[in-house]
Amino acid sequence: MDHARRHKHIFATPATVSLMRRRLGHIPATVMPFGESLVFGQVQVTLFPAGHILGSAQTLVENEAGERLLYSGDFNTEPCSTAEPLAYPTCDTLIMECTFGNPAYRFPSRQILAQQLCDLVSEKLAQGYIPCIYGYALGKAQEAMKILSDNGFALSVHGSIIHLAQVYEKHGIDFGSYDRLRADTAVPGRVLILPPAARRQRVVKRLQKPFSIFLTGWGIRPEARFRYGVDMVLPLSDHADFDGLLKYIDRVRPKRIYTTHGPKTYYQFLRQQGYDAHPLEPSAQQELF
Ligand SMILES: [Zn+2]
Repeated sequence: MDHARRHKHIFATPATVSLMRRRLGHIPATVMPFGESLVFGQVQVTLFPAGHILGSAQTLVENEAGERLLYSGDFNTEPCSTAEPLAYPTCDTLIMECTFGNPAYRFPSRQILAQQLCDLVSEKLAQGYIPCIYGYALGKAQEAMKILSDNGFALSVHGSIIHLAQVYEKHGIDFGSYDRLRADTAVPGRVLILPPAARRQRVVKRLQKPFSIFLTGWGIRPEARFRYGVDMVLPLSDHADFDGLLKYIDRVRPKRIYTTHGPKTYYQFLRQQGYDAHPLEPSAQQELF
């Protein structure tokens, strides 16, 4: 919902159109599969996978002179099991998000984090706890479902997450079998998949022996566990970490970079690395071409 509005018309990938309609109702849309270009006046526009959540896209805009402007949107360099892998289209000008543009944010690989999650869940189940996995209802929760169902855990999933997981299933992501979260499925031996707000719901408050794990990149901070009020935070992120941002720049090879959605100082860091980098004010986003 931090990306979507009830626009009059949207141009988006098939999965994004489905997810937006699932959340916001019917919105007129032009479906743009990855890699297929559309012409808008003087420019040609093509979407490429951003690896952030299912259907998430970067936008490449090319003008008649062959200049290429790439808008990253939210992106993730770490491959995950529920989003298309990030593409690296080369460009002249890059507008990029830099959410984790601070060296404090370096995450273990996705594979290691998935293993840590499974090991922890196994250990807690063996100790008689009911593991409660918290993540945003779109994206993170489906990733948790996929990791845990692929590893054979019995899942009880909150309705708001199932609502969106059904769209993932229509687009080919297989979560195996899982149950809807109810009083009779919130029992020992099962793993609960929950949105953050569910902590206040009765079915969760009544659990005898819960063990709560929040999945977020912000979890790398030592105080995160207290901030989120959970037993543990794992830094499973759907954004590129500090090193991922640099890897992305290295591969899309921009001549100039505009930073957005992240630490205001990140552009200064990029300048120190020799890049022609500028902070982008939201009001200037329309004026780059
Ligand atoms: Zn996002």
